[in-house]
Amino acid sequence: MSNQQGVLYIVATPIGNLEDITARATRVLSQVDVVAAEDTRHSGKLLQVLGIKKPLLSVHDQNESARISRILDELSAGKSIALVSDAGTPLVSDPGFQVVRAVREAGFSVIPIPGPCAAIAALSVAGLPTDSFIFAGFAPAKAGARQQFFQGLVSEPRTLIFYESPHRIVESLQQMATVFGGDRQAVIARELTKQFETVHAASLAELVQWVSQDNNQQKGEFVVLVHGHASEKQTGSKFESALRILLQELPLKQAVALTVKLTGAKKNEVYERALELELELDKD
Ligand code: SAM
Repeated sequence: MSNQQGVLYIVATPIGNLEDITARATRVLSQVDVVAAEDTRHSGKLLQVLGIKKPLLSVHDQNESARISRILDELSAGKSIALVSDAGTPLVSDPGFQVVRAVREAGFSVIPIPGPCAAIAALSVAGLPTDSFIFAGFAPAKAGARQQFFQGLVSEPRTLIFYESPHRIVESLQQMATVFGGDRQAVIARELTKQFETVHAASLAELVQWVSQDNNQQKGEFVVLVHGHASEKQTGSKFESALRILLQELPLKQAVALTVKLTGAKKNEVYERALELELELDKD
C-alpha cells in the first residue's frame, strides 16, 4: 500500500538498537513528503543510516503549538508527514499530543506505525503482573512534588511504570522505598536493547542498595516498575493461615471469632474469607 496524501503518520523508532526499526516504519519514512522530528539532527542521523533523505521540520516541547498551523498547511496541500521523536513511540513522554489532537480535529487521518516503546519493552520482561498497569511517566523533579506524586499511587493495585533519568534514579528509588514500603517488589530495566541492558528485580529497599553501591547501575536510561499495592486477600492475608487451621477444628463462627481475636483483622473480611474457604474445604 503506498502512502496516502494529507496524512500524519506517528512513527515509532528504536530505543537503542537500530535493528528495531520496523519494515513499515522504514517504508513510511521513505515515502512521506516531510519528517517532523523532535530533534532534527538526531533523527537526521537515523534517516541517514536508513538511506533516506527528507525535508525535516522540528517539533519539540517549546514550539509544538506554534508548529500546528504549518503542519495543517502541509496536510491541506496534500502532503504526508511522519512524526518521530528521539526514541521510541512519539507522544509517550514525548512531544506530539497537541499536533495529533489538532490534526484529528481538522479532519485529517492520523495513522500509527507502531514499534518500540521503553515502558512496554520493560513490562514485557519484568515478571510483574501485566493484565493491568499504569504508565506514570516521569515523576516530578522536585523532591516535595515527587513525594506527593508517589503518595497518590500508594494504594494503586495495578503495576506502576515510571521513567527515570540517571541523575535522579537513586533519589527516586529511595523515595519510592519510603512511600511504597521497602519490601514492595520492583524491577529496574536499564539501557534496554543496548550494550549494557540490565533487568534487575528485587524489593525497593534492595534496589536502593544495589544501585547506590554501583556507579555503573546509575548510568543510562531507566524504566522502574513497581508491583501494585496488594490487598490482604491477594497476599494471603495476615489472618489467612490462622483461619485455615481453625476452620479445620471448629465451627465457622467460632473459627472467625478466634481469628479476629488472634490477629485483629476485620470481622467481615474474616467472615467472607471463611465462607470461601469452607466451600474450598468441602470440595477437597
Ligand atoms: N517515547 C519513548 C518511549 O516510547 O519509550 C520515551 C521517551 S522519554 C523522553 C525517555 C525516557 O524513556 C528515558 O529517560 C527512560 O526513562 C526511557 N527509556 C528510553 N529508552 C530507554 C531504554 N533503552 N532503556 C530504558 N529506558 C529507556
